[in-house]
Amino acid sequence: MWLLKSPWSNPMKHLIPYLRDDQKAADYLRQLRWPDGVTCPRCGSDAVESRERCDNGLRRFNCAHCAARLGQQFAMFTDWTRSIFEESKLRPLEWLLVVGLWQLKLNATEIAAAADIQERTAQRCINLLDGGIYETYHLEPTRQLEHQVEADECYQSAGSKGLPREVERYDRAPRQRGIQLRGRATAETGRPPILGLVQRRDKANPDAPAAQVYLEVLENVRTATIKPIITAKVKGGAQFFTDEYSIYHFTQVDYDHRTVNHGAGEYARRDLDGTCVHCNTMEGLWSGLRNFLDRFKGISQRFLHLRVGRYEFLHNHGHLHWHQTFEAALRCIFSTPGDYLRRMAHQHRRMPLTLCYR
Ligand SMILES: [Zn+2]
Repeated sequence: MWLLKSPWSNPMKHLIPYLRDDQKAADYLRQLRWPDGVTCPRCGSDAVESRERCDNGLRRFNCAHCAARLGQQFAMFTDWTRSIFEESKLRPLEWLLVVGLWQLKLNATEIAAAADIQERTAQRCINLLDGGIYETYHLEPTRQLEHQVEADECYQSAGSKGLPREVERYDRAPRQRGIQLRGRATAETGRPPILGLVQRRDKANPDAPAAQVYLEVLENVRTATIKPIITAKVKGGAQFFTDEYSIYHFTQVDYDHRTVNHGAGEYARRDLDGTCVHCNTMEGLWSGLRNFLDRFKGISQRFLHLRVGRYEFLHNHGHLHWHQTFEAALRCIFSTPGDYLRRMAHQHRRMPLTLCYR
């Protein structure tokens, strides 16, 4: 499986025609940003006039509407104005390559080597791309799970580097590494819980997409923390499968809630109505997530939600062709709000949950 997904078997081959020079790369990226024709990123007007290119191959445009509004002769913008690429010094061709490698789930060291850029630059690129996906795909309020949904939680060790809060304490034993299933850890103790919700794949329909998952990094696993998330993300009336952990008991009201008793050695059963009661889809996802996070060789809580967001996006698009996923990722990245970069620069830790669900 890994061989199939390695860069050497080249799933990126559809990018080759656009990797010839910066102009080709810029033209391809523009096509993904504005499939129906270029519009002004400031006012949305399509009364734009194509101008000469910049040195790095990006096309310049003049917006007649903005020029009139500002009382100027010109109001210029480029292919990347108000996108997350705007302040980057990387060239269009380099970005195209980096996005392709990012989608292969490589870490910063590997991307730096493959794209011939500095490791620090690769790290910044990854944070930017993961951030764009988190902001547009993960926080997308209309994305909901239905029919048969499994829920489970796991715990991921993550350090406090870059966080104002002191997670590490000197008088504690060294923290354990890796995902630990079970336990009552919290972000404060260096093991933030991750809540996983997954809609089982519809096996009766051969064209059904992959099992759709929603993963949320939490401060703790109290009912008060997870209730607003489950209510927002799982459609009422769905079948809801969990283990017997008491934090899920509230779901009896709105869902057809069924539990397996892991403590008594029960992992799957078939109810009288033919429904299979288990959390095996979610268990499988945890091992996929564990393999993915292991590649980062130690992860800070400041970035954990971004990495988990990338995994969620790539998993949910796993049934598509590589280039369809690539284009879907770039559409998300281009629709990331323009002020996202500034917010991210000032943000020393992840957004509080209350902000996400307001
Ligand atoms: Zn304009």
